[in-house]
Amino acid sequence: MTGAIQPWHAPALVRLAELRARGNWPHALLLHGKPGTGRRDFARAVAAALLCENPPAALQACGSCVSCRLGAAGSHPDLKLFRSAWFEHVEGDADPADAGADEGEGAGKRLSREINVDTIRRLADFAAIASHRGGLRVALLYPADAMNHVAANTLLKTLEEPPPGLVFVLLADTLDRLLPTVRSRCQAVALAAPDATAAAAWWAEHGAGRDAAFLALADQAPFTALALAQSPIAATAARLHDALADPAALDIPALARSIETELRRADRDAPRSAAAFAADLGTVVGWLQGWIRDLIGAGSADSLRYHPARSAQLARLAGRTSLHRALDYARWLTEAARHARQPLGIALFLEDCLGRYVALFGDA
Ligand SMILES: [Zn+2]
Repeated sequence: MTGAIQPWHAPALVRLAELRARGNWPHALLLHGKPGTGRRDFARAVAAALLCENPPAALQACGSCVSCRLGAAGSHPDLKLFRSAWFEHVEGDADPADAGADEGEGAGKRLSREINVDTIRRLADFAAIASHRGGLRVALLYPADAMNHVAANTLLKTLEEPPPGLVFVLLADTLDRLLPTVRSRCQAVALAAPDATAAAAWWAEHGAGRDAAFLALADQAPFTALALAQSPIAATAARLHDALADPAALDIPALARSIETELRRADRDAPRSAAAFAADLGTVVGWLQGWIRDLIGAGSADSLRYHPARSAQLARLAGRTSLHRALDYARWLTEAARHARQPLGIALFLEDCLGRYVALFGDA
């Protein structure tokens, strides 16, 4: 369970190591940054360093002491993860002793991305007990911005009276959705995302020869790109984009039905793997959003963020609709994306998305 530090996170680590060396370590750390960029590994590496019994330098773990070995095995009694049911499922290493660890699981049931009050109560229970190994204790919580209101207020009580020796490490996508009172009790540290060059270098080493187009599609978030490239719906992405490139030939009901079938199959065949990141209707709507964003960009000579390899296709499409209509559709998608997680009929929902897209190129 020890994490690797990615090169783009090195400055944040230096900053934290300085805090640690100066004896200025906060009791609650709030790490925030873009998903799919190695943030959880960073948080775990920080936790390992805090627990290490023989640290070679400030905020470094030796890797060989009892604490480091327990941490690597995922069984350090002074380190506990508090996650949404969805993350527990995807990461597949939930502590079976945790009540509620299997919450939301079961055939066909969607796992909650929300952190509810039960999880925070377990955190409070953990906070109340003494250190097993006599050192610091670490409670790692993510995604902290997915706490519901009751959960956040319950956490606040524990943050307001921090038990001695306990370090909270909260991990969030963004600070906007966090309760300001929770935010103000934490030391916030931004975790940078890799730029295109750093992401490409990472892909050359870890992408196993897969198409680098996945990196652009995932907006340079390397772990999202790899999860997608390895997922059963990787081919769905290419097929969707080929279809979007030729709206006149797009068979809306057939494409919507086949995407629904592929999503359901991916869910069933690979529920507990990196694929779970990708096998999600929200991801498909995200692809549509990325496509329309680049189409708008192609019309205004912007650089293409998600589909640099399809610039000619996108420029042609941009010439066949108006900026006004494309922007309207983008706005509609943004709204639709909010409801995309659990629609009643996936195919019907996608038909709506695709139908409105094809209409962009018809007569006004
Ligand atoms: Zn150690």
